[in-house]
Amino acid sequence: MSQNAQQLNSLPASRQVNSQFVKAAASQVGFDACGIAEATALGDDELPLNQWLANGCNADMHYLSEHEAMRYDPRLLLPGAQTVVSVLLGYKPSHRIGGKAKIAQYAYGQDYHERVKSMLYALIAAIRAEYPDFDAKPCVDTVPISDKAWAVRAGLGWRGRNTLLVNPQLGSYCYIGELVTTFRADHYDTPLPNGCGNCHRCVDACPNACLVPSKGGLYWNDARRCASYHTVENRSQSLPASLRLAGYAFGCDCCQLVCPYNIAARVRYTLSDTDIELLESLADSDEATFKKVTRHMALNRIKYFQWKRNQSARQAECTGTCPPSDCEAENTDEVEKPNLD
Ligand code: SF4
Ligand code: SF4
Repeated sequence: MSQNAQQLNSLPASRQVNSQFVKAAASQVGFDACGIAEATALGDDELPLNQWLANGCNADMHYLSEHEAMRYDPRLLLPGAQTVVSVLLGYKPSHRIGGKAKIAQYAYGQDYHERVKSMLYALIAAIRAEYPDFDAKPCVDTVPISDKAWAVRAGLGWRGRNTLLVNPQLGSYCYIGELVTTFRADHYDTPLPNGCGNCHRCVDACPNACLVPSKGGLYWNDARRCASYHTVENRSQSLPASLRLAGYAFGCDCCQLVCPYNIAARVRYTLSDTDIELLESLADSDEATFKKVTRHMALNRIKYFQWKRNQSARQAECTGTCPPSDCEAENTDEVEKPNLD
């Protein structure tokens, strides 16, 4: 009998949650999907971080090489961890914004860190209604844990060639969060088969050719060439001359727009005229306005000088006329999901 099985048998029932109850609670809180995984260490096939770092693909995101052991094993993040509850919140917007306000769709609304974190706290409270002693560490992209790898292990999707989690219903347009807990679950989910098939649309659509196959067949995103990395994380005064922004002033959706799963995903967020006006007003805003407006948005991640730098670079590249669909496949309505047979 494995050590974990022995621990499970010796755990009082009060230290074990019913997985269906947790999933129903997650749905009530507003999450679109929930999966539950056992908190044992991830293998290199689940998290190709070592190789990615060894090849320098993290550019100057040195924080990603910190706490490496913890990223592989959540029991180092939370001693005694038994379970990772993984949740998804879809964010496909009703329409996209182009021109000067062209930013990645994940950044349109309230900062997902704030939104998902508050929903995770609500989920903990909902689980406590049934299990008063339940406690968990909520994680949203701010602690050293690989949200994609845990979502895969929890059966919520697969790592697509775009290197993101692809969920069959939400595509890759989803925020990911986790609860790490010392409670066991009565049932653990298993990973889904990879649904990319022979599709390479994302790889072909990348304007910077930064989605590259790695040794194990998984794809890497080489951040050193990625527009999303450069427009958000790069703190230099200027961007590399060779970088193609495809009109984006923050992030880049080129590898997601073409994905058949994203095209088929249902809209999860209605963009109001006020939202659009607000975003459009940012392009020419002064620093004080930019800071005030973006205080609770993902755009808050960048400094004002980066915003101006990105705006200048995108204007130089496309003379301010990029339509919202400049890197989307034509006739996307007719795009079908890969044949998985
Ligand atoms: S975000 Fe843009 S630049 Fe980066 S991998 Fe995707 S398509 Fe390429
Ligand atoms: S575009 Fe195709 S290859 Fe890329 S993630 Fe989507 S299904 Fe997979």
